[in-house]
Amino acid sequence: MASIDLTDVTLSFGGTRAVDRVSLSMPSGAFFSLLGPSGCGKTTLLRLIAGLERPETGRIALDGQVVAEGRRFVEPGERDLGMVFQSYALWPHMTVAANVAFGLQMRRIPAKDRVAEALAMVGLSHLADRRPHQLSGGQRQRVALARSLAVRPRLILLDEPLANLDAHLRQSMLAEFRRIHRQSGTTFVFVTHDQNEAMAISDLVAVMDAGRLQQVASPQVLFDRPASAMVARFVGAGRTVPVDVLGSRDGHCDLLLAGHRLTLPGDAPPGPGWLCLHARDLALDPAGIPAEATGQRFENGMHMVHALLADAEVDVPSRGPVPPGPIRIAIAGGWVIPREGAAACHLSVAPAQ
Ligand code: ATP
Repeated sequence: MASIDLTDVTLSFGGTRAVDRVSLSMPSGAFFSLLGPSGCGKTTLLRLIAGLERPETGRIALDGQVVAEGRRFVEPGERDLGMVFQSYALWPHMTVAANVAFGLQMRRIPAKDRVAEALAMVGLSHLADRRPHQLSGGQRQRVALARSLAVRPRLILLDEPLANLDAHLRQSMLAEFRRIHRQSGTTFVFVTHDQNEAMAISDLVAVMDAGRLQQVASPQVLFDRPASAMVARFVGAGRTVPVDVLGSRDGHCDLLLAGHRLTLPGDAPPGPGWLCLHARDLALDPAGIPAEATGQRFENGMHMVHALLADAEVDVPSRGPVPPGPIRIAIAGGWVIPREGAAACHLSVAPAQ
């Protein structure tokens, strides 16, 4: 198991700051995900941890041992870590067992027991004599994971390992990864742009945007208390509605939304704010705030009404269909943040003022 500490790590490619002054601590033994839209710098951050890239500035430490800082640089092979990619990179001419044994033999570690243990952990003992072309995609990915686990690294880095699998298989592989992580006790760092994947599997998630870290928190905190408008919109298909915060106390904000006074959970000083909402926070209510229904979709047995509330898009669950036109919405929850939280946001859904 290894803890990972990044301090002020930056790496640019030409004019692009792929990783921009990232400071982050990942606790030992955690299942940690790096999440963000395409191009936000997740893979670059993973490659920096692996030692496949050198940081321009900052420090990277594994278990308190500095592996990159200034001229100091520990080569990838000396960092005691395993990597699993979306392409399985298995040797086609070798059996499953031989593929798993390969890394051990390179390190002159007796392979037999370690291979048996790693294959048992990923549930593939019965396929040890098959070759990769005789396996399904999910089985190949488990061989790739077994190959990493067999050398018992302190850290396993996984770069979109499920991207090539169909939706159903991804779900079952997520549960498998979680089980294997618990059983092995190894620290896992998992890169994904799929927020459902990250939320389902992780102890902690780091959300990145344009090279910067937006928030590091448990899945529930990211969902319930996003730190920025970008996180609110990216995680759980959240919506952000512009509000004026009048004041706050005891974890609640008094605010004005389209001229209506409300008190809702949040943490924002007086001034412009965002009210971060999920569908669960909203209901159609004749005594609610006026809004405009613009369309709907049928989802999980409910009608999800698309509406404009204070010129921002929201989704309101409804038992029956609702035609386009005026509606009223009651707000039972949400999370209020300062509007400047939107400054680093590169997804424009609601108008920034
Ligand atoms: P994706 O989910 O699409 O894989 P990502 O979040 O992993 O994206 P990175 O691959 O880390 O993003 O890329 C971050 C930025 O750095 C992007 O703008 C990308 O074009 C750029 N970049 C990454 N690697 C290189 C490289 N070797 N040379 C030039 N630019 C690069």
